[in-house]
Amino acid sequence: LTGCGSSSSDKIVFGTNAEFPPFEFKSTNGVIDGYDGIDMAIAAKIGENAGKEVEIANMEFDSLLVAIQNGQIDAAIAGMTATEERAKTVDFSTPYYTATQVMVVKEGSDIKTAADMEGKSIAVVQGYTGETVVKDLGYQYEAFKKGTECILELVNGKCDVVVIDSATAKDYVGDNEGLVIVEDPSAFESEEYAIAVKKGNTELLNTINEAIDKMLADGTISEFAAKYADA
Ligand code: GLN
Repeated sequence: LTGCGSSSSDKIVFGTNAEFPPFEFKSTNGVIDGYDGIDMAIAAKIGENAGKEVEIANMEFDSLLVAIQNGQIDAAIAGMTATEERAKTVDFSTPYYTATQVMVVKEGSDIKTAADMEGKSIAVVQGYTGETVVKDLGYQYEAFKKGTECILELVNGKCDVVVIDSATAKDYVGDNEGLVIVEDPSAFESEEYAIAVKKGNTELLNTINEAIDKMLADGTISEFAAKYADA
């Protein structure tokens, strides 16, 4: 038995960053104590399927991988893209959602492709794959703590474009008049969201994968995605 963490208990502690609608956000009527969204519904189902209680630990996105490694949480479910870099420190479940980075701009913007971002003022969220993608394109950018901060910069005319995950972009555009999404599939590869566990925690990984496989096969995850699309 390990000294810390709760891998052998009847509870699964999922870490998340509840700043990422429609995947996780705070809500008094949330599916798990004060938290709601696609990921939260998935986490609840994983617990149900395994006969285990589920608890959510809300923290900075950047802290999730460390929290797994030091046993503070058992797993991270946070719209997290399974990148090769992250897979060096954690193990990933079966992917459950395909996303891509998109650009959010003001209506009438002359940004039509990723290349048009050259010389523009770009906002990203620190530690998100959007930051990596913009960095890899070689553009200067400003990194903020939250997606909502980036969107506020854009609304206030302090930046020209926000690079962020597709479903979250849709959510923000729905909430803010005058913003539109610009896609550029040739510049932004698709990303697979997966749940992260401590390296070698195959017991929990199997528990998680069993539930995910079931939910992918019977359409539950698509249902959740549709349900929370305009959360
Ligand atoms: N998919 C992005 C990433 O993995 C953003 C995730 C998030 O903000 N929760 O970095």
